[in-house]
Amino acid sequence: MIAQEPLKVVATTGMVGDLVTRVAGERGEVEYLMGPGVDPHLYKATASDVRKLQRADVIFYNGLFLEGKLQSILERMGKSGRFVEAISVGIRHNRLLEPGEGGGHPDPHIWFDTSLWAECIPTVVATLSQAAPESADYFKTQGQLVQAEMLELHQWVLSKVSELPKAKRILVTSHDAYGYFGRAYGFTVVGLQGISTVSEAALADMARLVDFIRENQVKAIFVESSVPHATIERIATDAKVAIGGELFSDAMGTPGQIENGYDLGTYDGMVRHNVTMIVEALK
Ligand code: ZN
Repeated sequence: MIAQEPLKVVATTGMVGDLVTRVAGERGEVEYLMGPGVDPHLYKATASDVRKLQRADVIFYNGLFLEGKLQSILERMGKSGRFVEAISVGIRHNRLLEPGEGGGHPDPHIWFDTSLWAECIPTVVATLSQAAPESADYFKTQGQLVQAEMLELHQWVLSKVSELPKAKRILVTSHDAYGYFGRAYGFTVVGLQGISTVSEAALADMARLVDFIRENQVKAIFVESSVPHATIERIATDAKVAIGGELFSDAMGTPGQIENGYDLGTYDGMVRHNVTMIVEALK
């Protein structure tokens, strides 16, 4: 490769794309496959995705079976000599949340604990550096910058949630995307659909959730941008509780879509938007 020519990088989700864009800086051109509102658990690659993947120098995905249907295609591409890496691969295993009674894989929603998401940075730096060794120093410096920004964001979240008394830190959403968020920031998290959106909520689960909301005097529950709203809306009606707003869970907003000063198409903006909305609605 000619020095200075940017690497062609493809990422799966917006969150992965955001992290890789920040680390790659001007030495990478990053495209991502899943836009706003797209559910990665159910996502199937299109013909144009496959063309993008085939043209890429480097491919990054979340891993931990977040991209349920796509993961086997990506693993196959990795065997054909291209640089293909799950950004979660370097996270210490004892930091992952194991699945509940259903068994299966560890919880893949690692991005909502910002300190855990930061543990993906060394993998991104290492993989980009393998693909473009002449830029290794540059990627290392970029990685350090992003690391510092990420830890600053983690501190911001800690300070924002401290506005809520412990008893009010109960987060009810459509599916279990916030397990790591709950562990990092002291919330009890209840998702109606489990850690994937593949199975639909049963009526018995809905009734249990209504009871839980009443017993705990939860002030508001939340819909998610990448999951249909109907079931949570019905639970809100049955439990006589407000919808606190629409959280971004498995997809970010549209780049340049600004709300309360936050760009919802960035990881930083998405996290600040979600946390502000949660804290204000539960206060
Ligand atoms: Zn999910």
